[in-house]
Parts: sequence; C-alpha cells; structure tokens
Amino acid sequence: MSDEQQFHELRTQVEQWVEGPGERWAERIEETGQVPEELWAELNAQGFLRIAAPEEYGGRGLGFVRWMELMEVFSRSHGSIRMIVHVVNGIWRSMDGHADDEQRKRFVVPSVTGDIKIAFTLTEPGNGTGADITTSVVREGDTYYLSGRKHLITFGVRCDYYLLAARVEGSTGHEGTVALLVPRDAPGVTVEDTSDTMGVRGTDHASLAFDRTPVPVDHRLGAEGQGMEVFLGGFLTPSRISVAMSCVGLAQRAQQLAVEYARNRVTFGKTLTQRQVIQFMLAENEADIEAARQLVLHAARRFEEGADDASMQSSMAKMHAVTMLTAVTDKALQVHGGLGYWKSQKIERVYRDARAQRFEEGTNEVQKAVVFRELLQRTASRTGEGTSR
Ligand SMILES: Cc1cc2nc3c(=O)[nH]c(=O)nc-3n(C[C@H](O)[C@H](O)[C@H](O)COP(=O)(O)OP(=O)(O)OC[C@H]3O[C@@H](n4cnc5c(N)ncnc54)[C@H](O)[C@@H]3O)c2cc1C
Repeated sequence: MSDEQQFHELRTQVEQWVEGPGERWAERIEETGQVPEELWAELNAQGFLRIAAPEEYGGRGLGFVRWMELMEVFSRSHGSIRMIVHVVNGIWRSMDGHADDEQRKRFVVPSVTGDIKIAFTLTEPGNGTGADITTSVVREGDTYYLSGRKHLITFGVRCDYYLLAARVEGSTGHEGTVALLVPRDAPGVTVEDTSDTMGVRGTDHASLAFDRTPVPVDHRLGAEGQGMEVFLGGFLTPSRISVAMSCVGLAQRAQQLAVEYARNRVTFGKTLTQRQVIQFMLAENEADIEAARQLVLHAARRFEEGADDASMQSSMAKMHAVTMLTAVTDKALQVHGGLGYWKSQKIERVYRDARAQRFEEGTNEVQKAVVFRELLQRTASRTGEGTSR
C-alpha cells in the first residue's frame, strides 16, 4: 500500500473515532468531570498517542505536515482528548534533543509507548514564565535538592514524572537553568489537585510545591544552563503550530454546529439560513477558518523543511489562529441564540474549550513580542544594521 493510501486509512480511522467513540467520551467527560485511565488506554490502543514519534522509538513516524492534518481532526473532539493527543505526541520532542542514550531508554521511549506519563512543568505562581523562574536546585554530590512552586500544570496529578524547569540557586536569567525529570512520588513533593477549570473539563491540573526534593543528577537533560533550551528551544515551534492547528479544528467544529443549528431553527416562518445576517456570519467564519488553516499549514511546512523563519511563522500562525477561534466560536454561539448559553448545547462546551487556547504555548501578547523581535532582527540584517558594529 502506498504512503498516500496508508495516510488516507489513518485519517479515516481518526475521523471515525472522533465522530463516534470520541463524541460519546465527550458526553461522559462533561457528565462526570473526569477523564478516566480507560480513555488514555483507548487512545493508546488505537495508536493515537504515538503518531508523531520516530519509528525507532515505537512511534509511527508520520511527517509533521501530515501529523498536523490529523491534529486538525482530533481537535474537533473534546478539549481533553485534544490535550492528551497534543501533549503526548509532542513531549518526546522536548526531551529527545537533550537526552543521552540511557535517558532516551528510561524516559523518551516509555513516554512514546505509553508506559509513563510526563507533565510539562514550567509555569510558576510568583513570576513570569521563562527565564524569570525561581524554583531552584542545590547540588550535593550526585543529587539535586529541589525547592519551589509550580502551578497550572496539566496532568500534574496523574503523571509519573514532571519535566520541570528550575535554576541552580543563585543564578539569574538563562544562566544556570536546568531541565529535570522529577518523579511524581519523590519525597518533598506536595501535589494539590486544581482541576476545576472553565473548559477542557476532566483534564487534571495541579499546583506543586517542592521542599528539598531529591532528584538524581542523571535525571537532568542537557547541561546546567540549557534548561530553557529544553523548554523554549526546538520543541516550542512544532508545539505552537500544533496548538494553532488545534484552533483550526475546534473552529471547524463550532462552524459545523452553527450550520446545523441554523438549518433547523425557524423564526418568523424562515430558517436562520435564509437570513442574510446569519449567512454572512457563517461565510465570514468559513473564510477565517480557511485562512488560518493555510497559514498553519505553511508554518508546518517551514518547520518540516528546517527553514530559518519557522519559529516566527509558528508564532504568527498561533496568533492568527487563536484570534480566528475567538471570533468563530463567538459567532457560532450567537447563531444558536440564547439556547447556545445552555449546557445542553454542544457549542457551549466548544466555546469554553476554545478560551484555553489563548494561554497554551504562550499568550498572544508573548507571540507578538516574539514576532516583533524577529522582525526587527530580519530588517536589521537586511539593511546591514547590527552587522557593522
Ligand atoms: C488550560 C491550561 C493548561 C496549562 N498547562 C500548563 C502546563 O502543562 N505546564 C505549564 O508549565 N503551564 C501550563 N499552563 C500555563 C500557561 O502556559 C500560562 O498560563 C501562560 O504561559 C501565561 O502565563 P501566566 O499564566 O503566568 O500569565 P502572566 O505571565 O501572569 O500574564 C498575565 C497577562 O499579562 C500578559 N503579560 C505577561 N508578561 C508580559 C510581558 N512580558 N509582555 C507583555 N504582556 C505580558 C500576558 O500575556 C497575560 O495576558 C496552562 C494554562 C492553561 C490555561
């Protein structure tokens, strides 16, 4: 069977799962507020958690652009299903570039095969996200002792390891930052379950405190000083593109629900689809979704080609896709009238899930700062500014 046929089969498998079992899971998650282990097991058994990883790690080794085409489909599903598929298919990438062979065997490969769950643990309550972190380690022999706090950590309750950013005590900025794999059950770890969120219901989130938690030095990825590279380096570009594609898929779902509703709702003797104002809303949504989709696919191609503007493209795609999703879900809910505000309507959940996308992989304010910084560098190098000094 050709690669094209194999991809077509996989895409059909994903579509059928999302529209069938995925929808039933969505209802169950909303009813119970829980994502059970059973759902993780089902996603793993379907092979959905290892699509993007290389074959030698037990993954399917799908090319990035093709993977994004599937991410689009998964994102039409419940926010928690999208979250699991996005994170597990991406986290190996952040570790792989800095792992040695032993760490690859212990952490990277088991994360692909579903034997361990890893939570991406960066954000802190007391300071900015990035080189501003204050969670710190002190080294004594072959052990780091970790102290500090983290919050908003997805899978922070159920994970096996925290892939955690800290700094060597006394260092500042990027200098002295470390990326550590911290066992969930290590001494001195306090986990507070903070899963009660507006949307993406059922996904567990945690606030964490570390009090001289011992972490073996061989759980450090890369060197001291490379911590931020693990978190914000090569991994961030594909992850931003994946979040941007998540916005496209979720917007498609909102639009699908709005069109269905508009076809059936009759006011003053006419269906909503016969009202020009509704037609215009739906037409605008369609154009906005397609424009964002093409920008995201362009960023995905640039990443796959190893182009030097891939990082900037990923930020532009995420900025644009998130703004599009906000507008599309707002109009889709408006088409539903007041009923759209009720939990009985699927659009209500889609609207709530959509709001989370404005934080994941950095807010739009941060994306704009990234784009502007690169814009300035590019215009400076074109005019020779900065190179002659
Ligand atoms: C559902 C969900 C899941 C998450 N999962 C994880 C996770 O698994 N792991 C993890 O580490 N984090 C996670 N986060 C946290 C997320 O990455 C952060 O919320 C996001 O990066 C913003 O950081 P903050 O919340 O600290 O906001 P703040 O930094 O407090 O920002 C508040 C506001 O000020 C703006 N702002 C802040 N600094 C600047 C600046 N320098 N210039 C201009 N504007 C600025 C921001 O854009 C924002 O609008 C999650 C968040 C959500 C909502």
